Amino acid sequence: MAALRHFRTWLAGCLLAALSLGSTPARAAAGLRVDFIDVGQGDAALVTSPAGKTVLIDGGPANHAPALTAFLAAHVHGPIDLILLSHRHEDHLGGLPAVVHQLGARLFLDAPAAHAGPDYERLMRELEARGVPARQAARGRRIDLGGGAALTMLGPPEPSIVGSRSDVNANSVVARLTYGGVSILFAGDAESPTEAWLLASGQDLRADVLKVAHHGSRYASGMRFLRAVGPRVAVISAGAGNEYGHPARVTVQRLARAGAAVYRTDLDGDVTVETDGTSVHVRTARGRAPSTEAWAVP
Ligand SMILES: [Zn+2]
Repeated sequence: MAALRHFRTWLAGCLLAALSLGSTPARAAAGLRVDFIDVGQGDAALVTSPAGKTVLIDGGPANHAPALTAFLAAHVHGPIDLILLSHRHEDHLGGLPAVVHQLGARLFLDAPAAHAGPDYERLMRELEARGVPARQAARGRRIDLGGGAALTMLGPPEPSIVGSRSDVNANSVVARLTYGGVSILFAGDAESPTEAWLLASGQDLRADVLKVAHHGSRYASGMRFLRAVGPRVAVISAGAGNEYGHPARVTVQRLARAGAAVYRTDLDGDVTVETDGTSVHVRTARGRAPSTEAWAVP
């Protein structure tokens, strides 16, 4: 059964490749692909659309910049079409100056909440040096990625969240990627107040795949939010043996109770999700069982 689904995914990929010959895909088009890259204690995800457009959501910490740039150099040809920063913490932007320096980018979308630091300053300098336009990420903005894929900003929250445990986290840019009947939600380091705002906003939060907020910490991924999202797959980006105890055991349990198969970069290495808009296929670099999972979206 799984083999049949894989075949269908492959067949759909071939058809898409045939239809997208008019463009110049950055890599072989095979539907939509998201690589949750193992960057230790941090976040970095590379989206490649069916048309070959590339989006890097966050860039991990500075100490994993060499591994991140090596991954990107192997998978992206030419500048990255869009770099989206969920929020200005070092574990999400530390690797970005090296990425911008080595690969370049066509557009940078910045997170709203100010947070000064040497890595952010370095990033701003690199963007300027490479002539990369920088804009503010805004709720409601929809970015067409070609081939039927789109990235929609559900946040940052409006008005901004103030007085929370971490306002920088709470005002993370939350984005929903859609392709056919499949959706993938990127929650940044959103926390409980962000989830309450998202639920109250009435926006469509449903997602087959959830990039779990805040490395699976106990300050996010509440049951009401998880029920609204309804993920089949949850991906946690965290460093092995990290000092924060991420992911929290209670959060992993909640994700499982919500019906999600949980993947973790600290255990699985890179986690790759591929979809033809109908079925979803997950595989992991380290092949921890279950190393592959595929299903058709009803
Ligand atoms: Zn973080």
